[in-house]
Amino acid sequence: MAYKIEHDRPNCIGCGACAAVAPEFWEMDPDGKSDIKGGKRTEEGGEIIKEELDIKDEDYEKNKTAAESCPVNVIHILKDGQKLI
Ligand code: SF4
Repeated sequence: MAYKIEHDRPNCIGCGACAAVAPEFWEMDPDGKSDIKGGKRTEEGGEIIKEELDIKDEDYEKNKTAAESCPVNVIHILKDGQKLI
């Protein structure tokens, strides 16, 4: 899997745009921030500091739309380890 999505969760402002445009991959958490569905979470001091998920090539466009809809640019997409967004 060449693409990976990443969420800089601490800086998410919980606007809901990602979950609205790509609900297959993004959902809102009761704490007000979004989560990557099924994403691997990295925690530090009890706080989720990063979420990541490998995605298929065909799921790139949907997540690109989510990343572009994020007003604070906390959704990133990497291809082969290189940051595209
Ligand atoms: S679009 Fe960005 S700020 Fe809005 S909920 Fe999603 S990750 Fe958070």
